[in-house]
Amino acid sequence: MLPLVEEFYSLQGEGYHTGKAAYFIRLGGCDVGCSWCDSRFSWDPELHPLVETDVLVDRVLHSGADSVVVTGGEPLMWNLDLLCEGLKRNNICTYIETSGAYPVSGKWDWICLSPKKNMPPADKICRIADELKVIIEEKNDLKWAEKYRKMVGKKCHLYLQPEWSRFETIIPEIVDYIRKNTRWRISLQVHKYMHIP
Ligand code: SF4
Repeated sequence: MLPLVEEFYSLQGEGYHTGKAAYFIRLGGCDVGCSWCDSRFSWDPELHPLVETDVLVDRVLHSGADSVVVTGGEPLMWNLDLLCEGLKRNNICTYIETSGAYPVSGKWDWICLSPKKNMPPADKICRIADELKVIIEEKNDLKWAEKYRKMVGKKCHLYLQPEWSRFETIIPEIVDYIRKNTRWRISLQVHKYMHIP
């Protein structure tokens, strides 16, 4: 049973898989407490109904999606082994978006690590992350991003994403930074421009 905030079939709007169709499962519960969090409604898991993993898998299959993004909240507050087993049994690709603040459970085709200053990730998830996505609110955050670039593997894809409410202020800094540090790419929350979830 997992606390379900919302689920929907949409397009990934951020990071490496931008533009790809995916079924999103947003789980409740997060104690990381980012000041700019746009998913505060997910923080308290008790506000969200517990749903059996088999039911979630059935809904994914019914949608016709071939991949699932598990997000939150902080989804790794929960053991995700059973959910991933059910999805993999049905040949569904499993992607997760996590701060890395909790130990990894489940089997993942893609781990997007988005480290947060309040509760930094463990070394282990840094080594296995496929994608590092750092939210940039102010210029100083670029140093924070570099710290994690050094901790992830060589094949990890690197993204800087402007914090949505600071977009106009911070975007010139990010563009300038990527021109000088070309391993990084920009991640824009394109689902917000398309007005889709
Ligand atoms: Fe919000 Fe994610 Fe930060 Fe939790 S980790 S507070 S859900 S942005």
